[in-house]
Amino acid sequence: SSSVNSIMEQIKWDSSGLVPAVVQDAGTKEVLMVGYMNEESLKLSMESGETWFWSRSRGELWHKGATSNNTQSIVSLSYDCDGDTLLVQVVPNGPACHTGENSCFFNAIPFEPKLNPSQKLSQSQSRADRFAVLGELETLIAQRDAERPEGAYTTYLFEKGIDKILKKVGEETAESIIAAKNGDNDELRYEVSDLIYHLLVLLQERKLPLDEIMAELDRRHERPRKD
Ligand code: AMP
Ligand code: ZN
Ligand code: ZN
Repeated sequence: SSSVNSIMEQIKWDSSGLVPAVVQDAGTKEVLMVGYMNEESLKLSMESGETWFWSRSRGELWHKGATSNNTQSIVSLSYDCDGDTLLVQVVPNGPACHTGENSCFFNAIPFEPKLNPSQKLSQSQSRADRFAVLGELETLIAQRDAERPEGAYTTYLFEKGIDKILKKVGEETAESIIAAKNGDNDELRYEVSDLIYHLLVLLQERKLPLDEIMAELDRRHERPRKD
């Protein structure tokens, strides 16, 4: 159709008639791979809803997943400001890389970031999984409760029972207060970490999932209304 033709004209195909296409997981936003597309592979991609590339090494059209079955179902297509790169957001139907890795970009180059302290802070704040350790700790504590491995401090707490756990929560709360009063943030970090760990043990003892605490906080938290 003419609209497809006008899109094809917006794209700056290189001297070989190709443009790089960045393939991104539409859900996780992970960059999966980069392939090259020519006009025909872009048309095939748009028509079929799955990624098609031009294989420069084999010199042929390439339907991603044709042999591996690891096809990619397209969610959205866009081209960049100057039309020399495509972005393809997909739902992957298997690993993108022929090595079996999810993403082709698994070869880390050793690099020491040169960030100033405020950049470091915003980088860690933008990480969606910055509280992931809480969920992992909750899982570990539940595992200790179920398996009761000998010698583990968490096992000891569960064996002693609720009163011991509550006593520890009280102690760690008091120690956090003292640390804050002392103005010693090294001490405060340590004591609040102890307190959070013992609170997670308490939640496990009472069978109250952390998710319910998160949902409660979420309900209380006011957000700007969108309408
Ligand atoms: P597939 O398209 O997944 O069936 O894979 C067919 C062939 O394409 C593989 O044997 C590789 O040579 C190549 N190939 C597949 N995925 C990639 C990729 N992400 N990057 C480069 N080459 C690939
Ligand atoms: Zn560009
Ligand atoms: Zn790869």
